[in-house]
Amino acid sequence: MLASNRKILLALTFAMVVFATAVPVALSFGLAMAQARTNLANRALFYAADILRRVDITGVQDAQAFDELGRIPGIDNCSAETVAALQRVEVSSPYVKLVGIMHGNQLTCSSFGPHNPAIDLGPPDDVSPLTGHNVRENVILPFSPSEKFVVIDNGHVAAVLHKTLQVDAPTSDTGVALVTLSASRKKIYATRGVVDPHWLTAMLDLAPGQTNARLIGHNMVAMARSKVVDVVTIAALNEQSYSAIVTKLLAVLLPIGLISGLILSYLILRIARLQMSLPAAIKSALRNNEFFLVYQPIVRLDNHRWIGAEALLRWRRQDGSIMRPDRFIAAAEEAGLIGCITERVIKLIEPLLADLSEVHGDFYLSINLAPEDLHSDATLPLLKGVIERTGAVPPQLHVEITERGFADTAVARAMIDRMRDIGMKVAIDDFGTGYSSLSELMNFALDAIKIDKAFTQAVESHAVTNKIASLIVELGRELSLDIVAEGIETTEQAEILSAWKVGYGQGWLFSRDLSEDELREALLIPKLYSDSRRID
Ligand code: C2E
Ligand code: MG
Ligand code: MG
Repeated sequence: MLASNRKILLALTFAMVVFATAVPVALSFGLAMAQARTNLANRALFYAADILRRVDITGVQDAQAFDELGRIPGIDNCSAETVAALQRVEVSSPYVKLVGIMHGNQLTCSSFGPHNPAIDLGPPDDVSPLTGHNVRENVILPFSPSEKFVVIDNGHVAAVLHKTLQVDAPTSDTGVALVTLSASRKKIYATRGVVDPHWLTAMLDLAPGQTNARLIGHNMVAMARSKVVDVVTIAALNEQSYSAIVTKLLAVLLPIGLISGLILSYLILRIARLQMSLPAAIKSALRNNEFFLVYQPIVRLDNHRWIGAEALLRWRRQDGSIMRPDRFIAAAEEAGLIGCITERVIKLIEPLLADLSEVHGDFYLSINLAPEDLHSDATLPLLKGVIERTGAVPPQLHVEITERGFADTAVARAMIDRMRDIGMKVAIDDFGTGYSSLSELMNFALDAIKIDKAFTQAVESHAVTNKIASLIVELGRELSLDIVAEGIETTEQAEILSAWKVGYGQGWLFSRDLSEDELREALLIPKLYSDSRRID
């Protein structure tokens, strides 16, 4: 491998390893943060819904209490029956702490009995927009001076509620802030923890029964609006809770990310090592005769008889595995070893070509040449040499050159002309996959086009590739070239191509790659092969 290519490969490998490690790690961070956000939102929503449930129950019990109080007969005097009735109402409404009778701003009687003197609650702070009841928000009662109560009255009877009962809901997170407030007037009823006034503006778009959660500053703020009373509840979890969840998730995701990054990096390094050591391995494979050829028959599409075979290179590695050319030809080209490979291929076909020249005079062998072979002075003598030594007629040797080989037009044309002058046939291989335009083909005097299997296999479909395939066939016919369709796998493909007047085909439908011995045996079967002089 050239030094500069090696450097590029090393740099590329390094970049890929960094990438392969960084991406899974970054992904695990991203995943942990996204998951933590969802987790946090769900928890905040849970708290907001929990206090809303308490608010709703309080609202319902409050309404029930007023209803039941309205039905107590003679409620204005604080008789023993009235007190007993008040006690019954209180017991049936656990969220209501106390019920009593009001005269103006005075609580004159309650479930404790008559208040003498009456307890002055002071003027109401507000009137509920839903019920029209008076609301006092921070009432201190003589029998529980350390607590603040909310007192709601309708002018006759009053219900006393615990001010912070709803927001006293149990929470497993530290740093959680809870708020209850009036939905219509944004008036805060009760709070717990540190409340940011910005949260209140975010609840503007909340309809009754709706909930939402969003990040506001460093807090995940969830809100829920009651369908029963004019209340919105807010629950906010701060950064601490977020970091705690992220840390927990990272403890699981980070090792997974790291391990997959390391596995990926290991695989990349293995492939890179293999790539970097390929040239040395190819050289030793040439020395140890690890290369061999298999042959894939090429058939006439009108009668399926074999007329030739393409020689395909295989590499039997020392561990017994077989490597296909796709994995080493490019490395051999880069390392400047392709000339040695082509020389080996020509040497490997020699015994078979010699026998064919004696027994099957018009059966040809087709070999693949690399673009570099067209630039090499060694190629033509090698080809001439094998024809002379085997006694084959030149048309028994075909060469296949991919479109890349035609890039240097002048060199390619000169070489192709010289090969055709000898009498060999030249085909353009994998046609349609390269960059050359169809018209460029007219610059060359060729014998055949081999249509790439990607197009062959598209002939049954209505894809664009199908259209291209038919254009290639048309062009080939126009230029009076033989057309060989590669990779035919189904009878339908064969029939369509035959109808398009494609003369020849190659593919698993007819035969897989055969060893030299298998090919020799098959050629003895008259049904598969008979000299075209006898067929026609
Ligand atoms: P290619 O010359 O186009 O060879 C045809 C490839 O298609 C072969 O793969 C063959 O096994 C495969 N094939 C044949 N029939 C079918 C089919 O019905 N369906 C499908 N899906 N595939 C089919 P292979 O042997 O792996 O060769 C790959 C490529 O390597 C060849 O493509 C050729 O470009 C290159 N190559 C093979 N031998 C040599 C060689 O000796 N020298 C050079 N320079 N390149 C070679
Ligand atoms: Mg080929
Ligand atoms: Mg091909």
